[in-house]
Amino acid sequence: METPQVTVRNPFRGWRLPSVLLLIITFIVNPIVQAQKTPPSSSQPEILLADWQGPHGGVPPFDHIRSEWFEPAFEAAATALLNEADTIANHPSPPTFDNTIAALEKSGGALENVSPLFFTMTANMNAPEYQKISGIIRPMLSKVYDQIVFNEKLFQRIKTVYQDRENHSLTPEQLRLIEKTYERYIRRGAQLNAADKERMGKINQELAKHFTDFGNQVQRDEDTWIILGREDLAGLPQPMIDSYRAAAKKRNLSGYAVVNTRSAVDPFLTFSDHRSLREKIWRAFIMRGDNPNDNNTNDIIKRIVRLRADRAKLLGYPSHAHWRMSDTMAKEPAKAMALLDRIWPAAVARVKEEVADMQALADQENADITIQPWDYRYYMEKVRQARYDLDQTEFKNYFELNNMIRASYYMAERLYGYQFTEISGTVPVFHPDIRVFKVTHQSDGSFVGLLYRDDFARQYKRSGAWQSTYRTQHKLNGQVDAIVSNNNNFVKAAEGAKGLISLDDAETLFHEFGHAIHGLANDTTYPGLANTPRDFVEFPSQVHENWVLTREVLDRFARHYQSGEPMPQSLIDKMKKAETFNQGFATVEYMASAYIDMMIHMDGSGEIDPAAVEKEVLANIGMPKEIVLRHRLPHFLHLFSSDSYSAGYYSYLWSDVMAADAWKAFEETGNVWDPGVAKTFFDVILASGDAIDRAEAYRQFRGRDPEVEALLENRGFPSSN
Ligand SMILES: [Zn+2]
Repeated sequence: METPQVTVRNPFRGWRLPSVLLLIITFIVNPIVQAQKTPPSSSQPEILLADWQGPHGGVPPFDHIRSEWFEPAFEAAATALLNEADTIANHPSPPTFDNTIAALEKSGGALENVSPLFFTMTANMNAPEYQKISGIIRPMLSKVYDQIVFNEKLFQRIKTVYQDRENHSLTPEQLRLIEKTYERYIRRGAQLNAADKERMGKINQELAKHFTDFGNQVQRDEDTWIILGREDLAGLPQPMIDSYRAAAKKRNLSGYAVVNTRSAVDPFLTFSDHRSLREKIWRAFIMRGDNPNDNNTNDIIKRIVRLRADRAKLLGYPSHAHWRMSDTMAKEPAKAMALLDRIWPAAVARVKEEVADMQALADQENADITIQPWDYRYYMEKVRQARYDLDQTEFKNYFELNNMIRASYYMAERLYGYQFTEISGTVPVFHPDIRVFKVTHQSDGSFVGLLYRDDFARQYKRSGAWQSTYRTQHKLNGQVDAIVSNNNNFVKAAEGAKGLISLDDAETLFHEFGHAIHGLANDTTYPGLANTPRDFVEFPSQVHENWVLTREVLDRFARHYQSGEPMPQSLIDKMKKAETFNQGFATVEYMASAYIDMMIHMDGSGEIDPAAVEKEVLANIGMPKEIVLRHRLPHFLHLFSSDSYSAGYYSYLWSDVMAADAWKAFEETGNVWDPGVAKTFFDVILASGDAIDRAEAYRQFRGRDPEVEALLENRGFPSSN
């Protein structure tokens, strides 16, 4: 399941500002009472910088946000942070863990307060005014970040603490934090000479601008649609027709609008009997960012890849991939490539079988076609029904959204002793659809954190599903609890109707919830230790998808939305039999994108032509012609809307190896709810952040390194090797 996690975590974490140095702010004491009021004008932007007030240790002031406040607020927060960094750098006493590393962890409070508000607005409510502000704020943040890393005096103090670390009685967490901090500064250029620092700063500035432009341009191409008439609807299930009608209505159009996003396009390709329309809609979708209009991203891509290669060279790495991966579990591109190469042949072999099945079925129907990419999902669905007598839509009747949300809470309750209580209406939210839940320990009622849910698709909300962290748990000055959010793009049911979701959606829901659990479970003293490597991040989320199809969850929560009957065993059996169905397609479309990501970022020259490189790599790996990349470069948001997933798209597979292997640890006990395994998993994998090296943590959990066999088995690939 590929549902990118947005870490709306502040990159400045680790530079928290002592609260005395914060701007003087007039607080809103009770956000509920104040919800209707406008705060005093003199303090408006400052409200975004204030420590969060209200219940549960403070909550995000979503009811006091104005787009025009962000620029001045970020400027003030940045100035405050730079001043703090200077204060730490010029501390009169010799450098110690407390006056340097811990002091950095405590700095940047104002920025930590405003950042999640801003990133939430740009991810969930990205109206044009926010798209514009991003273009200003992201380069501003990048500059501040560089100024701190390039602060010579500050780095010398960090270096001294690092070199001296064995001579003091420090805790393992403190030692780990020192090492991580020191390495991060070096990775970001702290040791460069003045001229190179200047060059690197310029590169980061320019990249920040391109990342924003790339995201906005793709979003604009996704906010287009193809209008259908009544005669174009053959094969489409009624709920889809309703959602296309609703999309047209929202745009004041007659007919049915298939908007150019995955959630609208994939179901059309799966069910529409109209072959030529499938092709038309498929082409529009794969051409996002690649059309001859203002949203064409090819020049931006060339520039980004070039700048990344230049930056890697400045920092002494052979390529961007080598630089980007130096703090991951894989550590180097060759390791990621080896995993891809290990899985690829089996996946391609499976695709050949899938295509043969589809072609046979098309021939049987005298369709007189050769399977093309726009036929894949359609015939795949037909084969699924023919072979397994399994109708996707049959499941939907059993997956009611609210029930599945409850199901995910049940999982967390049973595995980890968490309890979820809805508190919607008592804390501010940024849209009426948002629901808020308080998480407590079932045993003693003690507080764990808050979970915000934004489940429904909406204009100006980014597509896909993601988790974000509004506030990271830490214990710098007493306990601060996590606030996390889950964001999905489910189709909202009509007024009074029950919202039904697909099995895929249910797994996505559990996936994002797994990220949320990871954030809630974190139990480190220092917020700087909460961040786990990119190729570990998808492990907790992916492993939790497995509980959707357990008997306990299905019996309790997958009940027919009309009759209330549990899912019949025959349907479950059919589904289990079909579990590995279509894994060839899913694996190949994903892996081909992962290969391209690695190839363009392993090239030290940074000279690429996006169209040519796609063609070349696909030819080299032997891409089946019936499948297109899951993400073509012109709209590959993972790679070009920030640095985080660049040379990192392989991470889903890397994490999934651990997820499959870890799920097996539960299965091997004969009880996937086994309290002993759940406790070790919670303590070692979920709660310890990055306080222990993640490879070591995995060994502590499993008694050995992860093995790839479980993943091959899950996908129905032969594991001979
Ligand atoms: Zn994820």
